[in-house]
Amino acid sequence: MAGKQRPRFLWLASCAHIGEESHDAKLFAQYLAWAKRHNADIVVMGDLLDTGLCIGTKHIGSVWENDLTPDEQIDRACSLLGPLKRQIIGVVTGNHELRIERVTSINPLKQVALRLGVDYSGPSKVLRWNKWTLFCAHGTSGNLTSDFKKVLDGWEGVSVIALAHVHYLMTQTIVRFVVEEGSAIVRSRKIHLIRTGNFLKYAKYAALALHSPTDVGSAILEDNGSGNLKIHLGLP
Ligand SMILES: [Zn+2]
Repeated sequence: MAGKQRPRFLWLASCAHIGEESHDAKLFAQYLAWAKRHNADIVVMGDLLDTGLCIGTKHIGSVWENDLTPDEQIDRACSLLGPLKRQIIGVVTGNHELRIERVTSINPLKQVALRLGVDYSGPSKVLRWNKWTLFCAHGTSGNLTSDFKKVLDGWEGVSVIALAHVHYLMTQTIVRFVVEEGSAIVRSRKIHLIRTGNFLKYAKYAALALHSPTDVGSAILEDNGSGNLKIHLGLP
């Protein structure tokens, strides 16, 4: 009897920034259509919504650079992701959704997840995808490596660490020695570090902060049956 077919692709969908005037709606639509066509699994990696506010504590953005209100951003996100809701296997928050949570206690991405009927995990999610164990979080530091180091320091046994936040689209594979408990046997294991990308053209806030421009698009994992994980930086 043939078993359930393993999912071939996993789209790490981060930093769409729906509602920000520089949101690349055309490219995001291409990814949505591709994901539907390939029945790809999806993890929403935060900053799905931009949520520019005029009040808040830190990193509030600007309502003047948004062309949708937060309420309209929730509606837009639900209508875009609705047809793919059965493919969503994880949702973690980004700092942009946290802008609203910090002033109201209500996280708008949690509201999107609730409306879609998918699990919302808050700050991070560990999940098993085919033969790999993923740690997914939005990330918090502007430094490219420090968030990876924090996860490597605090979590044992993950084979992929996927982070967003800095908007870079890049991957690095590292190797660690693992000493088997109760013995002196040393093995090595690979860990894939991924920065999952974004759907934002060069935004005004990025120019003001002197952020470097980055490639747009997402990281996509592929299990092509070879036993190795293939990581695409952009649509395959
Ligand atoms: Zn972002």
